[in-house]
Amino acid sequence: MNLPPADSPYFSPAEETMPRERIEELQLELLLEMLPHAYEHAPVIRAAWEAAGVTPRDVRTVDDFRERVPFVDKDALRRFRDERGDPFGGLCAVPPAELTAVNSTSGTTGDPTLVPEQWGAGGRPAVITRDFWGMGVRPGDHVALVLFTFRGPVYGLFQGLGTVPVLFDFDPAEMPRLCELSLRYRPRALYNFGSVLVHAVRDACERRGLDPADVFSSYRAVVYAGEPLGPRARALAQEWGVELFEHTGVGDVTAAFECHAHDGLHFWEDTALVECVEPDGRTPVPDGARGELVATTLFNRVAPLVRYRSDDIVRVTRAPCRCGRTHARMWPIGRKGDEVVVQGRPVLPVDVWGAVESVDACAMGLFQVIRPGPQADRLRLRVGYAPAWDGRLGTVGDEVRAAVEAATGIVPDVELVPDAALLRLGPPHKIPRVAPR
Ligand SMILES: [Zn+2]
Repeated sequence: MNLPPADSPYFSPAEETMPRERIEELQLELLLEMLPHAYEHAPVIRAAWEAAGVTPRDVRTVDDFRERVPFVDKDALRRFRDERGDPFGGLCAVPPAELTAVNSTSGTTGDPTLVPEQWGAGGRPAVITRDFWGMGVRPGDHVALVLFTFRGPVYGLFQGLGTVPVLFDFDPAEMPRLCELSLRYRPRALYNFGSVLVHAVRDACERRGLDPADVFSSYRAVVYAGEPLGPRARALAQEWGVELFEHTGVGDVTAAFECHAHDGLHFWEDTALVECVEPDGRTPVPDGARGELVATTLFNRVAPLVRYRSDDIVRVTRAPCRCGRTHARMWPIGRKGDEVVVQGRPVLPVDVWGAVESVDACAMGLFQVIRPGPQADRLRLRVGYAPAWDGRLGTVGDEVRAAVEAATGIVPDVELVPDAALLRLGPPHKIPRVAPR
């Protein structure tokens, strides 16, 4: 891999700062290469297009694409998998023997789906390399990788950047080792963190007499993902002098990371064509407004998702960022399937998160919104409390009710359960934030 000079702020300056018209030309070029491939080789895409009476010949422009090409979603993949006995849900577009890895999604919102992958076969190394270079990671640096289901191929990307991955499981029990090896190898970046791990690091440092600020002193960037980091965990990390960067997937097609400007998460538009649509799926929302994210890969010929409805509610802007990059940015808000309308007000888990965390006994921010359906008369919450509070819960329920009312205007019904009972529901880096009962 050709690396830029170490003082370059960008990994690939020409691509990262290209004018918007050039981004759009490039997207159309890549899209028109991808669509015939997906149609020919990915059976689930072929089936959706045939049902809609569309072929790749009908698409000459991005407008044609938006008007004619049908959506696919996770249910379509699961249905295809179950009806046809195809473990990849009709998405694998190469002979299975040519795969080099099989991943799975985390399964937070249903049974995990398999993700076929082929590494080392070319493609665009843009994701991760551009982002971590921008955060200040350079060849020769150590990078702490704290991973769950997608561990293998990810460290290859960091090796490609000339860095040395130091591997951990995404598990609170690994945090004492993370502290020790951070002091020994002095990594430059950590990928990735979460609230539960922040608290586990604090506990590990307390037990061993370590100073978390010293443990993290070499880190230029600590990336967190999977779910929002509540204000309490964030404050703790910042007390330790950690610069946090949020990271999220983009419709299972690409990924997005914050840059030093911390004003939205960049995704690389030469890896994906991203749309943001109204719930009806037909109307695009204006720049910066809430909508559902729909993503189409522009590089992944192995699992070519086309117009994939992610169920993720986001805001997207295509305005250039202060960091000088011209690619779009997004702000994750929640999942469409998680929204519950109570007394006419839509509530997402993110709307009550900070309130739950602000109560001392519930500092881990573990909770579930009980959602029997899209509408409910009452806002019902199941909220976790730390073991130290067992048997002396006293006013904890009232504190949670008051905090949630202040945040949402709705007085909730609160069921308190031990944190451990909620952690058991996780896979384990995140728990389902919404439960039917
Ligand atoms: Zn930026």
